[in-house]
Amino acid sequence: MEEQLSTKNTTPPVSVPAVPSHRHKYEFFKVVQGYLDEAARLIELPGYITTILSQPKNEIIVNFPVRMDDGSIRLFKGYRIQHNNLLGPFKGGIRYHETVSLDDLKALAAMMTWKCALMNLPLGGGKGGIKFNPNEVSRAELQRITRRFFHALGGNIGPETDIPAPDMGTDAKTMAWAMDTYMNTVGQLFKQAVKGVVTGKPVASGGTYGREKATGQGVVHCITEWAEDNDVNLGGSTLLVQGFGNVGSNTAVLLSKLGASTVAVGDHTGYLYNPEGFNPHKLQDYVKKNRSIAGYPAGKPISREEFFRLKADIFIPAALENQVGVEEASWLQVRLVAEGANGPCTPEGEKILLERGIHILPDVLANSGGVTVSYYEWVQNKRSETWTLEEVDSRLEKAMKRAYREVTEMARQKKCTLRLAAYAVALQRLAAVYGEREIFP
Ligand code: GLU
Repeated sequence: MEEQLSTKNTTPPVSVPAVPSHRHKYEFFKVVQGYLDEAARLIELPGYITTILSQPKNEIIVNFPVRMDDGSIRLFKGYRIQHNNLLGPFKGGIRYHETVSLDDLKALAAMMTWKCALMNLPLGGGKGGIKFNPNEVSRAELQRITRRFFHALGGNIGPETDIPAPDMGTDAKTMAWAMDTYMNTVGQLFKQAVKGVVTGKPVASGGTYGREKATGQGVVHCITEWAEDNDVNLGGSTLLVQGFGNVGSNTAVLLSKLGASTVAVGDHTGYLYNPEGFNPHKLQDYVKKNRSIAGYPAGKPISREEFFRLKADIFIPAALENQVGVEEASWLQVRLVAEGANGPCTPEGEKILLERGIHILPDVLANSGGVTVSYYEWVQNKRSETWTLEEVDSRLEKAMKRAYREVTEMARQKKCTLRLAAYAVALQRLAAVYGEREIFP
């Protein structure tokens, strides 16, 4: 592509990190910058675009007090990273988790930019969160924390500005509180239509049918395409699922309808094995009630290492990043790793998996069904429409299959991994727009 600015080759490349194994500090943002660099080289992205995309546009940090149930006041730190809005408003989830950090959110926000570009959505990338354990506070406290956080974010978000959604530790209920807070603060001032300020809302509050299972559904569409390409019969296949929250549980449920059985599951409390296969519906209900798989009766407790060493067809990481390092990659005995989580494989882990002939469906492609259906929700809110589940499902299926084909075609052309191919497709879309608009002023 034509060079638009004269900075090519004058900007130093973003450093390619030496990535430590999961036992050391894992620098997720550096890992994502490393992939960006590699993919940029592959498609000869103009240097100035790589430079712009190597950092988020805005990094918002807010500290806000919340009155806890016992009357004490606790100060919380919240973040919203707005990575890029070239294609449209910033878009991405809100994470409530003990490990939330500015740097990880920068990585996750950048990945949202890639996902939206890959899926051809008129949206950019963002991510936010609060560092705390949502399981350790009451429902009333959770509501007050959410409302004070969105009050603090104020006009930094909005239906045409930045549109949050659920992520780890948040759900439709969180989004209902977020929308209501926005309506009563910023929305009041500007008399805006504000339902579209967040997605992943409960259906009655302006959410869409099909959003809750959307990420899992997208993972399943990718797996189905992969199975077709590789002559794998999913009927009778076996799964290992790490993380049984929204993504892991819905992926397991939807794959069970295709005849796949979940033989082992794990989360932050431990790992369970059941050679007969778990009933994913029952386990899903159990986790919704108990917040973890701990104490679920129909499985034998095993160690993390035993879990990773189990022979199965597909491994679905659907928990945190940095789960498959060098060790885990040499233990795994599966044919496919389908990344429901963001960043579950380290670059070193990925290298070993690929050397061992294990395929990887990368996060940017595999879990982009969530944000895709978020986009459908936003469009419905804008148009005051309600689409049927069938409509949402069929649009998502077409979108995922198209993205899968584009990524596999890019990988074939460039002889690269599917991960770099997914980055490359996304970056080409962004580059086309930067090429047309150039840089202000
Ligand atoms: N948190 C999800 C993700 O990581 C969904 C984001 C959204 O729907 O905006 O892709």
